[in-house]
Amino acid sequence: MPRKAIIIGAGPAGLTAAYELLRRTDIIPIVLEKSQYMGGIARTVNYKGNRIDIGGHRFFSKSDRVMQWWLDILPLEAGAGGSERIGYQSRFRPVQTSVQGPDPEQCDRVMLLRRRKSRIFFNRKFFDYPIRLTPDTVKKLGFWKTLRIGFSYLRAAAFPIRNETNLEEFFINRFGRELYQTFFKSYTEKVWGVDCRQISAEWGAQRIKGLSISRTILHFLRQTFARKDGSSEISQKEVETSLIEQFLYPKLGPGLMWEEVARRVGEGGGEIRTGCDVTAILVEGGRVRAVQARDDATGERHLIEGDFFFSTMPIQELILALDAPVPPNVQEIAGGLMYRDFITVGLLADELIVRDPRGSGPIGDNWIYIQEPDVLVGRLQVFNNWSPYMVADPHRVWIGLEYFCYETDAIWNYDDARMIELAKSEMEKLGLVEASRVVDACVLRMPKTYPAYFGTYSRFEELRSWLKRFENLFLIGRNGMHKYNNQDHSMLTAMTAVDNIIAGRTDQSNIWAVNAEQEYHESTSAG
Ligand SMILES: Cc1cc2nc3c(=O)[nH]c(=O)nc-3n(C[C@H](O)[C@H](O)[C@H](O)COP(=O)(O)OP(=O)(O)OC[C@H]3O[C@@H](n4cnc5c(N)ncnc54)[C@H](O)[C@@H]3O)c2cc1C
Repeated sequence: MPRKAIIIGAGPAGLTAAYELLRRTDIIPIVLEKSQYMGGIARTVNYKGNRIDIGGHRFFSKSDRVMQWWLDILPLEAGAGGSERIGYQSRFRPVQTSVQGPDPEQCDRVMLLRRRKSRIFFNRKFFDYPIRLTPDTVKKLGFWKTLRIGFSYLRAAAFPIRNETNLEEFFINRFGRELYQTFFKSYTEKVWGVDCRQISAEWGAQRIKGLSISRTILHFLRQTFARKDGSSEISQKEVETSLIEQFLYPKLGPGLMWEEVARRVGEGGGEIRTGCDVTAILVEGGRVRAVQARDDATGERHLIEGDFFFSTMPIQELILALDAPVPPNVQEIAGGLMYRDFITVGLLADELIVRDPRGSGPIGDNWIYIQEPDVLVGRLQVFNNWSPYMVADPHRVWIGLEYFCYETDAIWNYDDARMIELAKSEMEKLGLVEASRVVDACVLRMPKTYPAYFGTYSRFEELRSWLKRFENLFLIGRNGMHKYNNQDHSMLTAMTAVDNIIAGRTDQSNIWAVNAEQEYHESTSAG
């Protein structure tokens, strides 16, 4: 009798686990997915031929294993041959291009190499992201504001807040109060829905990498005072080249990757059941024995037994679904975990009001941070610039407006028409799109996109320790582990779980070490 692995969720982690099991073991994976889609948060929605992500998804990993895996599924488009550099949040790595790579004009299963451009929109003006002290920045901010920023930075450097505990103090110590209030406060509070003083300083150390005021000032001085002889012009060019960031992106969005992996899982003998919501997890002794799943189409409940269980469902819901006596402290922690939810409004427009600053063409930004407190929208994606193949009519602009909220907020319950009206009016208010030039729109709601590091998170270790007793249960992925994991981390947790099964290892600490080590290294090097 072949052994079976029951995998809850067909997001990046669940599908990676299934594919790895098929490739490397004789265990049959059965993936249970409550939606009709592949890719979870990393899915791509096809709206009348216009494709939209739940937030643009860059493909970047420090892990060679993940990079190779992605490029085995979707090979890199043909290039000049030689090495190109890709990056993500101040980390970089090379990728090898080949003249023999596939041509995106001829086939769909291909990974593109794209240029990253993102800016901050503040005070109805565009600023570089990450913010750079350039003559243009000074001009847009105004002399006095720049001076105030400079003095407030010097003050923070001379008299830092001792024993910083919250994110506001973290930002002020590194950037000064004025710069924090100008470029960090509004966006961060939109993302998390709480005051920066309620978020721990530790989160800043984990997530704010590579931004350094001293480097910014040095760059400014070099730009302002560089001699105009040949040598300084060359070095200036080198600086500019090093600031160009590229990333990998599937021709038709991240969903393409996960639809292709799902196809291979099916082809290789695995099973993926959609519309299949896991509602109960049955345990016996120290092991999970089966799950109960509700079939969306028929409403029937089925018992599905297995030898191994992988969960990517939110850990809060997993605890609720456990058919076992859960101690009160674990129930309390699970109940108090918090998540940020996400609404994206796709707007198809004839054109944007803003044009490329260096020419008369469309802007080249992939995304724009909206640092304006008088609107609710937090970020804007321009999908044409992620991949030109995301848009059915290349003469139109296809943008995604991102609203961060809680399921309990009024905005979560707005009907589509009201949400679209809000999005259009905010774009017009900001001077980015004329409402009358919007020709079509759609609304996507995705709950639990960001597992929050507040609520009962500080006691998470108690919950995790208790769950260790179920040795054939593997918690993997982002919400599955309540961890701010990107696709690559989510995949690595799945790969490590499969490694452990193959090696007969029961201690799961190496799964939890994924991303934790990286966060540690990054936080220490961010300085
Ligand atoms: C705005 C945003 C931008 C991002 N940008 C990037 C980026 O640029 N690069 C990057 O690498 N990563 C990015 N990420 C992170 C990436 O989306 C996640 O790391 C990844 O999707 C997590 O994969 P997962 O499989 O753990 O979980 P999910 O993607 O959440 O998938 C879980 C799946 O489980 C299903 N499920 C849940 N409960 C049940 C149940 N009871 N029964 C059956 N099925 C269930 C869900 O329907 C879902 O399909 C971004 C995330 C967000 C929110």
